[in-house]
Amino acid sequence: MKSTIGWKTSVIGITAAALVVTSFVAAQSKNEVSAASKQAKNVILFVGDGMGTAQRDAIRLATVGEKGQLAMDAMPYVGLIHTGSTVPVTDSAASATAYASGVKTYNGAIGMDANKKSVKTIFEYVKAMGKSTGLVTTSQITDATPAAFASHVEDRAKQSDIALQYLTKTKVDVLLGGGEDFWFPAGQAGAFKDEPVEDPSEKSKGTQGNLVDKAKSLGYTYVKTKADMQKAKGGKLLGLFANEEMFQQRPEGEGDLYNPIVPLPDMTKKALDTLSTNKKGFFLMVEEEATDEMAHNNNAKLTIKAGQELDKSVQIAKNFAKSHPDTLVLVLADHETGGFSIEEVDANDESGDAISKEDGPFQIANSKQNFVVDWTTSGHTAVDVPVTVMGTGAELFSGVYENTGIFTRLAQAMGVKLPK
Ligand SMILES: [Zn+2]
Repeated sequence: MKSTIGWKTSVIGITAAALVVTSFVAAQSKNEVSAASKQAKNVILFVGDGMGTAQRDAIRLATVGEKGQLAMDAMPYVGLIHTGSTVPVTDSAASATAYASGVKTYNGAIGMDANKKSVKTIFEYVKAMGKSTGLVTTSQITDATPAAFASHVEDRAKQSDIALQYLTKTKVDVLLGGGEDFWFPAGQAGAFKDEPVEDPSEKSKGTQGNLVDKAKSLGYTYVKTKADMQKAKGGKLLGLFANEEMFQQRPEGEGDLYNPIVPLPDMTKKALDTLSTNKKGFFLMVEEEATDEMAHNNNAKLTIKAGQELDKSVQIAKNFAKSHPDTLVLVLADHETGGFSIEEVDANDESGDAISKEDGPFQIANSKQNFVVDWTTSGHTAVDVPVTVMGTGAELFSGVYENTGIFTRLAQAMGVKLPK
């Protein structure tokens, strides 16, 4: 509106200087108007679970070295997030509830506030706008981080309830990850056999019947291998690729394994291909879980390996955003895990014992130098985590703010109308 007045003023302006000034003002306010009205049609949110600043640095040093840049770092905007829940040290459930619904809640809560009242999630808001939704993770697809975007339960352990809500309440279009044990009742092994050698504690334990059959009856294509996933057609896709996590989280040399049968970048690519058929757009959440669970085991080698897979997935999203410029891409963590630090190789500097002894040395890529990783805990910490952002609305995310601020900024970027 201001620009119209500006132009009229310029027409009746007398001196050339006045004309230049008013034209400049007009052009500027026109840009402001178009920036404000431009909304992100698509959002791709990456969560490196437990991936604090130091983890990101270690992944960078090991992958591209001191002069290189990770895909997750080569973004124009950065913010810093305070991660506390109703207590200083959050878990993944409360953190994801803060991101998805904008409330601080108790650890273990999924889509519920501190009074155990359901809170609407960003997935539910965008679904009402006609957009599609997708969840991708190397964890159980019903684990805390994905769960808080698309379900409401008092306790994160209720994973079969969460799965049922995905299918019948929030109707998530794309579900790719592990955790088939919660989709099949005891006695029905599913695609991955019960009590496998790599972890004999894993077996079907669903409490809501056969939810894979239920998904198929609701129109989902169900896949259990990478080849089947890549061939799958249609807008509703369920892929379950492990009994539990798609890796085995253990300390180094104790049966630790990070080699998902469908790598995170492939799941990310398929999710984008499937969701982008919706002309109204989509919201995709992609989580790498091993950055947290390997850090709980103070296993730096596989924390870094998992982070490298996350970074490859981010590159796929960035390629998508290049050809779909109305897309917002974010990379953040829900909290830091392990009190991870990067140190010089020095035999006289050792702060821990047992699993929290230093790990490494790791080579800094493209150099002859090394670093070691040390740990202060096998739990989570309360330090801030960074968010790097690119695309439509990315500028909203710079600054230092609470985890609940991610929700309000996402809503603003996508033009979600929040209740007053
Ligand atoms: Zn954790």
